[in-house]
Amino acid sequence: MSDERDLITDLIHHPYQPPAGWAAVPPGVFKASTVIFPDVAALRGRTYTAKTGYTYGLRGTPTTYLLEERLATLEGGSYCILSPSGLAAIMNVNLGLLQQGDELLLPSNVYGPSADLAANVLTRWGITHQQYDAMNPADLAARISERTKLVWIEAPGSVTMEFPDLPALVAAAKSRGVLTALDNTWGAGLALRAFDLGVDIVMQALTKYPSGGADVLMGSVVTRDQALHLKMLKLHGQLGLGVAANDAELILRGLPTLALRYHAHDAAARQLAAFLGSQPQVVQVLHPALPGSPGHAQWAASCSAAAGLFSVMFDPALSQAQVDRFVDALNLFKIGYSWGGPTSLVVPYPLDDMRADRKALPGHLVRFSIGLEAVADLQADLAQALRALG
Ligand SMILES: *Cc1c(COP(=O)(O)O)cnc(C)c1O
Repeated sequence: MSDERDLITDLIHHPYQPPAGWAAVPPGVFKASTVIFPDVAALRGRTYTAKTGYTYGLRGTPTTYLLEERLATLEGGSYCILSPSGLAAIMNVNLGLLQQGDELLLPSNVYGPSADLAANVLTRWGITHQQYDAMNPADLAARISERTKLVWIEAPGSVTMEFPDLPALVAAAKSRGVLTALDNTWGAGLALRAFDLGVDIVMQALTKYPSGGADVLMGSVVTRDQALHLKMLKLHGQLGLGVAANDAELILRGLPTLALRYHAHDAAARQLAAFLGSQPQVVQVLHPALPGSPGHAQWAASCSAAAGLFSVMFDPALSQAQVDRFVDALNLFKIGYSWGGPTSLVVPYPLDDMRADRKALPGHLVRFSIGLEAVADLQADLAQALRALG
């Protein structure tokens, strides 16, 4: 570039120009800590909360802004905040909206780490919580007090998969002026229209279906209300909860195939859940789209699709060791947490430690996440493992 300057300097101050005239389907991936301002006035004029431009990599890049816009579109909302995991997004909502003396209500079938956050972190900051019976809107209504500021809803509940009466839960909170936040990871923005059902805040673990690859951890919080959004965005900035551009790129890459994948997971899961339900060792299938599952009518009233996730209860007459043998005998189903990726997964959950009302579900619970393998191969794998159960 210049004969007088050192090569090292020229490599750093290379006359890079963004590519004018470049057009392609995938969006560019922009990575930066420092964002360069053309002058001091620009430096002073921009705020990250107003998004009147870029200020600092942690506060947003063209890549993260684009993903936020697409996720807001997916959920039918207006604003979106990205966090480094689904659990971080839950924390973003709780710490953004609650303060000392407030109370939080969680469903009885809440995602485990969300209950842990409330019990072991929020309590240390003077924020209390109670669990309400997710299948009884009257129980929720009875627990709302002057101190109640936020109600989390899961549809369906974690692991036990009961689908609640969403409109009734929202109405119970709304009638008392209490905000509702839906963990919409299962719905993925496709199975139900959360904002149309009256929910104020829609959170998702993008780790699951939006990623689809079992290779990214990320969470989102979408709202329609700007004031609510700004409260959570400020806390997000104060805690430094940015996401990496390469991770955002992977979610952007997953979104165009989200609906195709979701409906394929759904169809395969219904078939395999029905197959397991017809086996003598299985006493109950927990899949909200299957008649006979808890909350099936509520699912049918609010949803047009289901995820590829379900649980089954094995006969209480079997021993835990026998059920473990079934799980160990599976070949295509891998043993591991999370879901939404191409590989089918299985986890036996210890319900005794997870539910106050354990007696409602006798037997041994095994949770399945159906991947994208050929359904006949998955069914054959289940059949051979059932034989190992004895
Ligand atoms: C996985 C999951 C989360 C948390 O997502 P991570 O990215 O793993 O932190 C939250 N809620 C539900 C319902 C989930 O399934």
